[in-house]
Amino acid sequence: MTFSTDPIKNISVISTGSVAIRPEHVGPTWKNTYVWLFTSTRWTAARPINVYVIEHRDGVVLFDTGQDRASVTDPAYFPGGLNGLVYSRLAKFEIGPTETLAAGLSELGYRVQDVNTAVISHLHQDHIGGLPLLGHADIVVSRDEWNSLSAPLPEMRGLMRSHIELPGLNWKRVAPEPLADPTLAPFTDGHDLFGDGSLVLLPTAGHTPGSLSMLVRRPGHAPLLMVGDLTYDADLLFAGELPGVGDKKQMRDAVAKVNALRQKMPDLAVLAAHDPAAADRLAAALATGAVAHAAG
Ligand SMILES: [Zn+2]
Repeated sequence: MTFSTDPIKNISVISTGSVAIRPEHVGPTWKNTYVWLFTSTRWTAARPINVYVIEHRDGVVLFDTGQDRASVTDPAYFPGGLNGLVYSRLAKFEIGPTETLAAGLSELGYRVQDVNTAVISHLHQDHIGGLPLLGHADIVVSRDEWNSLSAPLPEMRGLMRSHIELPGLNWKRVAPEPLADPTLAPFTDGHDLFGDGSLVLLPTAGHTPGSLSMLVRRPGHAPLLMVGDLTYDADLLFAGELPGVGDKKQMRDAVAKVNALRQKMPDLAVLAAHDPAAADRLAAALATGAVAHAAG
């Protein structure tokens, strides 16, 4: 880290409604994704759709942007036909009028216009829902993830291009570059968002070809790793278990790297997008940091 004073004022999490998914989606499962998708009869309890909100001195940064409420109010939001069937079997959303991204930001005391940068862990529907509000911000996505949009059958892979490639968005497609920071090994490449070491994007492909995580480091505070959908339950990740969606080999590699980082940073808080325990983990990490800060 290249800063002596903390460039981050606040970190919060909001959830844009809730989602129920299949237990096989959380994993672990030996079943092929399309097998469980079309045969599962059960849903999990409602889980969050988290947006992490970091107030950095260079502006408010979002990690993911949640699910658009239009997906539950506009019958034309999802594709029809077989693609539509896939989406309806994959997840059930509930998003009330006060559970939108704008409402959540307002509750925290921010305006949508305060958002300077939104980092998108990956381009699935429940991470890109805030894009229509963010024409004024930089939208950061990995180049590999962006390139996956033009591969065949995007909708079947969870990529609704009509809700992603909106006119007027300022996309910044980033590729991992060598990091001159041996403390991040086994991660050797990444993208230092503001060049101060406080917010570092790390490649954790597997759930999708270009999935990103974001490491948040502050002097005197426990580090945080926002992992998107690399896991749906940080305890399963710690046990080396994989979720039921994605490239298993890549996910195994990414999970092993995250767990190796945890060995070196024992107080690292792993924060997933749909982990019911994530908000409590964040609160505990912030409280520990506050105590350390007060004591130190
Ligand atoms: Zn996803």
